[in-house]
Amino acid sequence: MLHNESLHYLDHAATTMVHPQVAQMVYDTLCQNWANPSSLYQPGYESRQLLDKARAAVAKTLGAPAQQVFFTGCGTEGNNIAIQGALKVRRSWASNVVVSGYEHPSVSAVLRQMEQDGWEIRTILPDSEGHLSIEDFVSATDKQTALVCCMQVNNEIGSVVDVNQLARRVKEKNPRTGVHVDGVQAWLRMPVSMEYIDSYTVSGHKVHAPKGIGALYLREGYHIQPPFAGGGQEKGKTAGQQQGVRPGTENLAYAVGLAKAAALGYKSSQERWNRVAGLNRQLRQGLKEIPGLVFNSPEDAVPEVLNVSTMCIKSETMLHFLEQRQIYVSSGSACSKGASSPTLQAMGASALRMDTALRISLGAENTSQDIQAVVDGIREGMQTLAKISG
Ligand code: PLP
Repeated sequence: MLHNESLHYLDHAATTMVHPQVAQMVYDTLCQNWANPSSLYQPGYESRQLLDKARAAVAKTLGAPAQQVFFTGCGTEGNNIAIQGALKVRRSWASNVVVSGYEHPSVSAVLRQMEQDGWEIRTILPDSEGHLSIEDFVSATDKQTALVCCMQVNNEIGSVVDVNQLARRVKEKNPRTGVHVDGVQAWLRMPVSMEYIDSYTVSGHKVHAPKGIGALYLREGYHIQPPFAGGGQEKGKTAGQQQGVRPGTENLAYAVGLAKAAALGYKSSQERWNRVAGLNRQLRQGLKEIPGLVFNSPEDAVPEVLNVSTMCIKSETMLHFLEQRQIYVSSGSACSKGASSPTLQAMGASALRMDTALRISLGAENTSQDIQAVVDGIREGMQTLAKISG
């Protein structure tokens, strides 16, 4: 898919276009720095130095020490390492996990597996507007809680949780409880502090780096037993990491690409926020004027994501109607592929609301014309398709 003026890409929560400067750095690194970072001769040493520089650049965006950031293959992998790794070392004293009811499958499916292994999973549901209550997490945490998991920005409706505050409150209740945050949709879009959080996942392809690279932050001294065994790569100072957090020869070129995307995104984050917020206002205003359409994203959601339901046209039908006009949106999260939305379900939405939902997700490169195109497209889609279906 080549980017051109008649294409309206409004699915940035699914993935983003690789930034040309990132692509160039990946290419240059692949061509010039292909030596293994673990090799003991000069080119290997140079690769190691580049890897450490990339690590420091990612760590800077999290306000974390460089040695506490570990490269992973993707967000899914980061979530798996953090959750499986934390539960493995807490088995002797803990029996339950507290988790939000609207996590991405890379968290919720892992915990379903853990449930089969005997863990009790305590789910905190959002209210009908998509807000989670920190009090509910704290009340559900007790002396046997191994881990609390909560995403910072929801991938389907864009609602936000103050995760540092959540972690602080959980630790007041039980200092041994770990707090894991999926920051995939939040990273570089809004500030975050690692003051109380134990582990935090990010992913490259949501921030204009390639697919196949991500990073996991682990607080210094936080004890996990990573699920993979191997050559010891991505070893940190964190306890229990003799085997490396993510063994396997490092993907240096993509790590360098991730670092470049991080630096670009970090530098422009305020400007980006302002720009996307302006586009979101235009979008909300335009969609408000369409009779019958309802908003699923709360007013205080991040500006990148706006989820609506037409209440008359099935999501997939509308998606293909818009596609004919080169307008690309999603019917939920990209992973759900048409399955009903776990987030809207957790919010107690009606079947009709879930079946007719659309997620529009914005990027800084979107324009006012893109917004106009999607508003017109949805309005015309509702008129045309409603007539066809009688
Ligand atoms: N967490 C959230 C909130 C996501 O939105 C996604 C991807 O959509 C992931 C995790 C998984 O990230 P990745 O695609 O890098 O595995």
